[in-house]
Order: sequence, then C-alpha cells, then structure tokens
Amino acid sequence: MDFAPAALSRARTAPPAAAGREPWAPPELSLVCLDIDDTLIDCTAAIRRTLHALTGRDDLWPLWDLITEEHVALVVAGKLGYDVMHHRRTECFLAELGIFGDSAQVSAFEARRREILARSWRLFDDVVPCLEWLRAAGLRLAAVTNASGVHQRQKIAELGLAPFFDHVAIAGEVGVAKPDPVMFHSVCLALDCPPERTVHVGDKLDTDAIGAFDAGLGAVWLDRDGTSRTGERAPEGVRTVTGLDELPELLVSEYATVGVPAPRAAGTPAATVSGGMF
Ligand SMILES: [Mg+2]
Repeated sequence: MDFAPAALSRARTAPPAAAGREPWAPPELSLVCLDIDDTLIDCTAAIRRTLHALTGRDDLWPLWDLITEEHVALVVAGKLGYDVMHHRRTECFLAELGIFGDSAQVSAFEARRREILARSWRLFDDVVPCLEWLRAAGLRLAAVTNASGVHQRQKIAELGLAPFFDHVAIAGEVGVAKPDPVMFHSVCLALDCPPERTVHVGDKLDTDAIGAFDAGLGAVWLDRDGTSRTGERAPEGVRTVTGLDELPELLVSEYATVGVPAPRAAGTPAATVSGGMF
C-alpha cells in the first residue's frame, strides 16, 4: 500500500449527504435574556442583611421568603399592583411577628427596609465576566425581571448593569410577568429576534426556565444552590448551570454560532473563549 503524499480532492473526500434529508445543524443564537434578582444580584444575601439590621434576628429569611412568594403570586395573577403588594407584604410579615401596627407604622417600616436594602445590593462575582463575554461574542442582551419598574431600574443603574443591556423588560412596566409567554415574546419583538434564536437564563425553575421553554426560547436554569437543597429537577429540554461562569461553554456547545466577536471598546478586557467556535 502506498501512503505517499498526494493532492487531495475536496470533492472526493467529502462524505456523501444522506439522500432526501437535510443534515442536522445546531440552532443559531442572537439574544440572551437574563433574570436579575438572584441571577445577577445577590438579593437573598441583601434581604438577609436588611432583616437582621431591622430586627436583630438572623432567622427571619424563610418567613420573609414565604410571604414574598405568596404576595408576588398575586401580582403575577394580576390581583395586586406592586405598591400595594409591598405594603401588604410588610404588614403580613409584621403580623406574623405579633406586631400589628397601623398603616403609617407599616409604611415607615417598609421605607426603612427599602433604605437599608438599597445599600445592600451586590452582584455575584461571576456576573461581570459573563456579561463581558456575551457582549464580546456579539450577542444582544436583555434583562427580564418580575419586579416593579422604579426600584429595579434604580438597582440596574447603581450596580453598573445598564450599559450591558440592549433592552430591559420589567413586569411592572410591561403589564405581564414571567412565566407568561407574552413577557418573553415582548423582548423578542423589541429586539427583532425570534424566540428560537433566544435563550433565557434565570434562577427560578418555573417562572424563568420552564416559562422560557414553553414560550419557545432556549431555557437555562441557574441553580446556584444545587438541586440537593431544593429538590427541584429540570425537565428535558431545560439546561442547568450552577454558576454564570458555566454559561459561555454551554452556549458554545449548544449553538452553531454565538455570533461574530464584536469590536471591543477601549479598556474592555478580552472575552475568555471556552469553546472552539471563535
Ligand atoms: Mg430571580
């Protein structure tokens, strides 16, 4: 057998295409949507610190979280506005502690809570490197959050997140909330990007990941706590990461192109590419 070098013909060495069937191609990606609370901003830690500052106790987070879930569900169902919800949530929380104040006292407690909370917001350490990577990869970015407009825009601005996003969708402004598909589709429409070329990433399995999946988007569940704590399991079709540092590799492995690397602004560090697409 003669293995001497010879001119190769691309036409002769290419594998034949399967007759009557298009070869499978992974999907394209143009837009990444990210939830904010407990996805980008460590809200749980901030609220824990605030509750401690207000009450001197460290054991009240589970109660606050439970009451919050119940009240946010009423907002999502369209039965309460955000301002009323904030007041009633605090009223309910104080009542659980045996404190039955009048409306002015509840409002004063809520105002003090907000004041302390506003000084407690922190980004998770993996947020800025991930956002810089996504921007450098040429992707468009949107923040998609179930919160009221004023407070959420204030957090986004104060933490330096605003320049990363092409669009910010806030439930209190849009008039619907995740997991309503209208919330996800409003973002796709605003940025002229079809759902099938969009991925949403968030910490809530039901409202973020499953909601996005049901709306026809790619869905990534950010499970920072690990499933061993929550007992939740992502259904088939929903991808899971335990930190945003895992997101670039997931996107590179799941999508044909993550976009063309965009020109970087002066002073912006280069993205770390964890796959072979660039
Ligand atoms: Mg969240």
